[in-house]
Amino acid sequence: MAKVQSSSDMGVFPEKLDLRIPGPTPVPPAVLRAMSRPMINHRGPEFAELLGRVTRRLQNLMQTEQYVAILTGSGTAGMEAACANLISPGDPVLVLEGGVFGQRWGEIAQAFGARVHRYEYPWETGADPDELARRLRATPGVKVVFATHNESSTGVLNDIEALSRVVREAAPDALLVVDSVSGLGGAPLAMDAWGIDAVVSASQKCIMAPPGMAFVALSERAWRRVAESRAPRFYLDLAAHRRLYEKGQTPWTPAVSVLYALDEALALMEAEGAEARLARHRLMRDMVRAGLAAAGFELMVQERWASPTVTAVRPPAGVDVEAVRRVARQELGVVFSGGQGKLSGQILRVGHMGYATPMDMVGAVAAAEMALMRLGVPVSPGAGVAAAQRVWVEAGGARR
Ligand SMILES: *Cc1c(COP(=O)(O)O)cnc(C)c1O
Repeated sequence: MAKVQSSSDMGVFPEKLDLRIPGPTPVPPAVLRAMSRPMINHRGPEFAELLGRVTRRLQNLMQTEQYVAILTGSGTAGMEAACANLISPGDPVLVLEGGVFGQRWGEIAQAFGARVHRYEYPWETGADPDELARRLRATPGVKVVFATHNESSTGVLNDIEALSRVVREAAPDALLVVDSVSGLGGAPLAMDAWGIDAVVSASQKCIMAPPGMAFVALSERAWRRVAESRAPRFYLDLAAHRRLYEKGQTPWTPAVSVLYALDEALALMEAEGAEARLARHRLMRDMVRAGLAAAGFELMVQERWASPTVTAVRPPAGVDVEAVRRVARQELGVVFSGGQGKLSGQILRVGHMGYATPMDMVGAVAAAEMALMRLGVPVSPGAGVAAAQRVWVEAGGARR
């Protein structure tokens, strides 16, 4: 057992951690239990039934009639699958880049031989649809537009519906490919209604299952592109996945235990219902934002762009954000994320997606506030908690 530090308030429970990071997220007990089931033959009838059910649940979540490929791998495997199946070497593509995950699209597309154009927008905002229209008109022949629904490195939620409309108008032949790894399930997304050509997501964010599986759904247009695309692919060949799905199988041995977990987690999500789930995420966002601002942190993103699944803040002037995270983790048992890329060492990120409740947000805000006090910052105890709780009460939290 890990040695408990004397300065800790965690007693002899150093493993009692509240994981407030943007993935992997906490996993409900029923989902963990599902993972301990015995293995089954992945070419047998029980597996076919399981795969069919999980696929239909994912279609429901993505709001699509299209086949959803379930790949073994993390979210990046889904992103790579989209590139490997939709790009041909030399294709001009446009990447919407407002954070680390937007940058990742550019890196993967480049690795698959695309000619990458970038629309870099400020990391504190979403992409501007009007500016996207200008970029598309100035760059004729763009074959794919890559966007990030929820940019986890900054806590920005893009307006995918508006961006999709612009792509259809300004570049009717371009496909719109969306990374919704940290959005799907926590933020609204309607693949078919919004005219998205590819949605990529993964098991370990809002879907509250362990890491290990990625999902890719393609539109009819995108499937036609798959047939033409000349990028090299094998393990992540989406046509092979679709072909084997007809037989109730995946082409390669899948992460069967993660599939058990997904089935259970998606069933929980359906039981809550989309409307209640999205409202819960919005409430958690509003509580965290109000609480951290009242505790003296600076919100990185204005309300207009604020993500319902992850919030980024800068520390009060003169405070080392890494010290805040260290105290919260070691002494209070709350795990926050730091910044990525150029934001490394500058921000703190709070995950509020999946298996998380308003009550967890009270604890997260209290931990951030307490950590500041321990670092000698003059904070009035409970200022952040009161602000978070007020948001909760205003949302009806005192009346249920
Ligand atoms: C987590 C995440 C990914 C995928 O990362 P993996 O570590 O490969 O699972 C991709 N995009 C966004 C926006 C994410 O939050």
